[in-house]
Amino acid sequence: MSDRIAAAAAMAPSAALTVEEVRSVRHWNAHLFSFSISRPASFRFRSGEFVMIGLPGDNRPLLRAYSIASPCYADELEFLSIKVPDGPLTSRLQRIQPGDRIFLGRKPTGTLVADALLPGRRLFLLSTGTGLAPFLSLARDPDLYDRFSEIRLVHCVRTVGDLAFRDLLESQLAGDALVQDQALLQFSYLPTVTRETFHRTGRIDALIDNGCLFDGMVGGPTMFDPALDRIMLCGSMAMIRDLQARFKKMGFGEGSNASPGHFVIERAFVD
Ligand SMILES: Cc1cc2nc3c(=O)[nH]c(=O)nc-3n(C[C@H](O)[C@H](O)[C@H](O)COP(=O)(O)OP(=O)(O)OC[C@H]3O[C@@H](n4cnc5c(N)ncnc54)[C@H](O)[C@@H]3O)c2cc1C
Repeated sequence: MSDRIAAAAAMAPSAALTVEEVRSVRHWNAHLFSFSISRPASFRFRSGEFVMIGLPGDNRPLLRAYSIASPCYADELEFLSIKVPDGPLTSRLQRIQPGDRIFLGRKPTGTLVADALLPGRRLFLLSTGTGLAPFLSLARDPDLYDRFSEIRLVHCVRTVGDLAFRDLLESQLAGDALVQDQALLQFSYLPTVTRETFHRTGRIDALIDNGCLFDGMVGGPTMFDPALDRIMLCGSMAMIRDLQARFKKMGFGEGSNASPGHFVIERAFVD
């Protein structure tokens, strides 16, 4: 354990933070990793929310927002993280090991929650990069399968190696006792790659235009329909801006916790 992380362990939890133990770390490639940490018994969150996590800084904790990737019923909390080469937090966070300590905020929040959407028939979870994280939690929430008859998760990345959690998603969440039966019938995963050869290539807007985004779906049209469809967007600001404008033009209204709508957005990072 590094000195700084050991120092975190020694610090008493503040009113806003608890100190948790790193349980596992998985490096997907040179710029992406995921890790799980202990979950305080009092920590509750709604699938799709984010929370502040971090390490000790010079004078105060160095904290960043992270979407929770694990299901709301899991014993541990899991996160999917970028490795920004000179990033204040992730240049250090990428070196964590099981047994190290990490700060966890006490107050998860966010707009990518089922309650911010009006009832609908199909749910589209559209992500780029680490924007996948909140959808890993949502896709394993049994409540979602009661609310929507079809759930499609689209993950757009640059290289095939960026398709984190691909096996879990391709298996339609096999092994997750709470949702696997419903997921087998209602959940589908559509990965797409923009900078390498893959069986599906192109950005999300291109897949909408050529209809491929709807490939293999059981019911409904091969275009978005505000009467049927609900959408969650998480990823780069550019993707969110483009799709947000497109959906608004099509008659979709943006939702929030206070006022549910046809679609909701959360940026996956600040540019
Ligand atoms: C609501 C919200 C949820 C977030 N959830 C996650 C998450 O689940 N996983 C995660 O890795 N990050 C997430 N982030 C970003 C995260 O808060 C940090 O920015 C990131 O961990 C990098 O921290 P840093 O201190 O190393 O670099 P920072 O100084 O925070 O960022 C440096 C630069 O790196 C780039 N960058 C930062 N994060 C990303 C990213 N995720 N993907 C691509 N480029 C990025 C941006 O250009 C940014 O300006 C989220 C941000 C917000 C606002």
